[in-house]
Amino acid sequence: MGTFEFISKQGEHEEVIYCYDKNVGLKAIIAIHNTALGPALGGTRMWNYKTEEEALVDVLRLSRGMTYKAAAAGLNLGGGKAVIIGDPKKDKSEGLFRAFGQFVNSLNGRYITAEDVGTCVQDMEYIFMESQWVTGIPKEFGGSGDPSPYTAHGVLMGMKASAKEKFGKDELKGKRIAVQGLGNVGSNLVAYLIKEGAKIIISDIDQEKVSKLSNQYHLETLPTDQILFADVDILAPCAMGAIVNDDTIRKIKAKVICGGANNQLAESRHGDQLRELGILYAPDYVVNAGGLMNVFVELEGYSPDRAFEKTRRVYDNMNKVFEIAHRDKIGTHLAADRMAEERIRLVGGLRTRHAGKSNRSFTTLKEVNNR
Ligand code: NAD
Repeated sequence: MGTFEFISKQGEHEEVIYCYDKNVGLKAIIAIHNTALGPALGGTRMWNYKTEEEALVDVLRLSRGMTYKAAAAGLNLGGGKAVIIGDPKKDKSEGLFRAFGQFVNSLNGRYITAEDVGTCVQDMEYIFMESQWVTGIPKEFGGSGDPSPYTAHGVLMGMKASAKEKFGKDELKGKRIAVQGLGNVGSNLVAYLIKEGAKIIISDIDQEKVSKLSNQYHLETLPTDQILFADVDILAPCAMGAIVNDDTIRKIKAKVICGGANNQLAESRHGDQLRELGILYAPDYVVNAGGLMNVFVELEGYSPDRAFEKTRRVYDNMNKVFEIAHRDKIGTHLAADRMAEERIRLVGGLRTRHAGKSNRSFTTLKEVNNR
């Protein structure tokens, strides 16, 4: 199969750019999936892909995901992503990221990059030396810093909307909530939930993180192989993906699943199955969009307060998902996709009206007087 045919089988991408610089050992691919709503924003992942084909599949899949995430979040952003082929522990250098930054710059803002798995703030700083089209740069350069508190706040908003939908009230006071994973997102979420008066049960493969939080807040803990099946109202997956799968789904006792982890459903059919089981699933990319909202604010000129305010919109976005799910009698995972597609169709299809700008230049009165 030829490359073009292969790409078209993975989705309707607008542009795929191969970036190569022999001197610095750069091999990267940038995929722009859709720019109907705005410039394509998505992080740069550095990974030791076994083959170039594997890297291509990943960048095509991830860039498509960003289109849906931005559209569902109500942001004027499109979807894009980049992958750098290489070992992030061994192959990083200033030259590599600056060369990559030049490729990003050549797209003149059609693609805006950010951190992702295998890249860090320092790498973004190198890209920033070559291009303004990068977010997640250090705070001293006007960047937004760590997105996790914003992601966690968005998850909290999504959880409140889900509680309203499932239990009739958006109050989390007294609700039993199991949090899997106490990293950047999970630990911030726990802090928010404490303020809400929820009863929290925590778990992490890292015992130090468990001890720290349970001592700080006097929380119940569970071993990692039991947390998904805890007898709780809400399960908040904040670790890895594919936690809802054939082995776990029938053992889940929670009535709501709402957490920050990406790709929680192993397959789409598991979303249908959750619906049949009466478990309300808050689609991951709708509830974990707070981090993306935060970097979007960075593009407008960063303000932490505005970013925080923006993450409140996850509540309304979730309500729209529920509306579509009821309207079309489908699971929330499909309703989220539909919500994103409807917005892309509607806003992306708006006819461009003449903006009333003119190329004519006028001489001002002041200039005339100065002659
Ligand atoms: P992190 O690496 O800081 O935290 C993940 C935590 O999960 C770690 O403490 C790890 O020990 C724990 N963990 C791993 N496997 C586990 C298991 N089997 N059981 C229990 N705990 C386990 O990552 P993060 O930044 O907190 O992100 C968490 C999830 O949220 C990821 O899926 C990430 O892709 C997603 N996400 C994060 C952000 C963000 O702003 N950081 C934004 C959107 C989505």
